[in-house]
Amino acid sequence: MTDKASKTLVMKFGGTSVGSIQAMAGAVQIVRESCAGWPRVVVVTSALSGVTNLLLESAEHAVRGDTSLLGEAEQALLSTHAAIAAQLVPDATRRAAVLDEIARLIHSFVELCQAISVLGESTPRALDAVASLGERMSVRLLAAALESAGIPARAVEASELIVTDNRFQSAHPDFALTTAATRRGLLPLLEAGLVPVVTGFMGATREGVVTTLGRGGSDYSAGILGAVLPADDVWIWTDVDGVMTADPRMVPEAQTLPQISYGEIAELAYFGAKVLHPKTIRPVVEAGIGLRICNTFNPAHPGTRLVANAQIEQPQKGEKVVKAVTAIRKQRLVTIEGRGMLGVPGVAARTFAAVASTGTSVPLITQASSEQSICFSVPGESAEAVLNALEQVFATEIAQRDIDRVWTGEEVAIITVVGHGTRNTPGVAGEIFTRLGKADINVLAIAHGSSDVSISMVVNSAEAEKAVKALHELVVR
Ligand code: ADP
Ligand code: ASP
Ligand code: MG
Repeated sequence: MTDKASKTLVMKFGGTSVGSIQAMAGAVQIVRESCAGWPRVVVVTSALSGVTNLLLESAEHAVRGDTSLLGEAEQALLSTHAAIAAQLVPDATRRAAVLDEIARLIHSFVELCQAISVLGESTPRALDAVASLGERMSVRLLAAALESAGIPARAVEASELIVTDNRFQSAHPDFALTTAATRRGLLPLLEAGLVPVVTGFMGATREGVVTTLGRGGSDYSAGILGAVLPADDVWIWTDVDGVMTADPRMVPEAQTLPQISYGEIAELAYFGAKVLHPKTIRPVVEAGIGLRICNTFNPAHPGTRLVANAQIEQPQKGEKVVKAVTAIRKQRLVTIEGRGMLGVPGVAARTFAAVASTGTSVPLITQASSEQSICFSVPGESAEAVLNALEQVFATEIAQRDIDRVWTGEEVAIITVVGHGTRNTPGVAGEIFTRLGKADINVLAIAHGSSDVSISMVVNSAEAEKAVKALHELVVR
């Protein structure tokens, strides 16, 4: 790890953590206190809460030729940023300069939407240009607020640091190029005693075309920058007291988990716990650096520490095995069935190749051993495209009645129970299904998670909340 003089902390602030005067003032205070303890601090920030949604909704309207709300969106963006600047950037010259830059970015948003409405279509590349504007505004505002509080800071666009492929809306970083660019971009600032304030969510291709890392991707940005610098610690500042036993919005009695293993958080994040973007974990684990999740609105709370899997002992007899419960909603189960599939090699491979061709990812798969049916879940909005792709790929088999049906049912949710030992401790699965049975919840499909720390069940969407609450009793009992 780094020597004492270059100990580095990367801190990421989420949208709500910078989304109001009070929140951004809190973030400034947190940076100030961290600078006292850490010689080098890098800040990564999301757009102010609601901004990315507003930008993308405006672009969607523009695709339909509707720009009637564009003026309203423009005003809303301007006034949200200006209200914070009015309080946190008291120097009039500095404030005018930062609001000027933000107005310039808002102007390019309006121009992009107008161009989209003229064309009547938007490309993923254009949508990334629009979506990334939120972070390009927030870094300028936060850097100015830090400067105003006497903390030397510099806004940095991650298009200079994170080099990605051109899979717009879900770009993948090239770690070698990103390492070189990040060190080149950030080390001189850190050596000069500045706090870089870097846009989350965005990157750029080698050619410099702006990309984004996927919705919620600012956590990933922090993980990437932390890994390549390398930092000693990455802290994710959000709006809850760390990783909790369930989404506190759904289960008010959810409690903070003081520590959780990388394996457990990976399952939780993958299966819908929005508190951490699932891609954040890998670069951090591989770089062997610390990860902490904490609350901007309750900074004295220690939050959650991520620890190596080996540090979490297998639970002893009588100890809680189930640590947390999570849900992914708005899924649909797709089923392919037919007696002619029995023992025919390659059906699964062709099925998932067809699904992949639609750009859909599959969080859960089950297959009967007879190979008479394969069942998997896909996000609801992709179901139709997946069905079409499958009907094309298996056109011959369907015509010959080897495959009877390719179909999708009503909306479902995947409920996942997470904890080391969930699968290996006798009786846990029994308890899970007993609880669901007692709550009168029908289980449509079951799968073991991709690691050995979870079990997932598919239930009707309408029963998702009831299922999470019923299973949460296993955590707090
Ligand atoms: P940010 O803008 O800081 O990135 P997000 O909204 O993306 O914040 O993620 C934080 C939210 O994640 C919380 O407000 C909470 O509702 C939700 N959440 C879902 N599952 C969990 C969980 N197990 N623990 C904590 N928060 C969770
Ligand atoms: N602002 C982006 C989003 O809303 C990225 C993030 O917040 O992590 O998806
Ligand atoms: Mg988030």
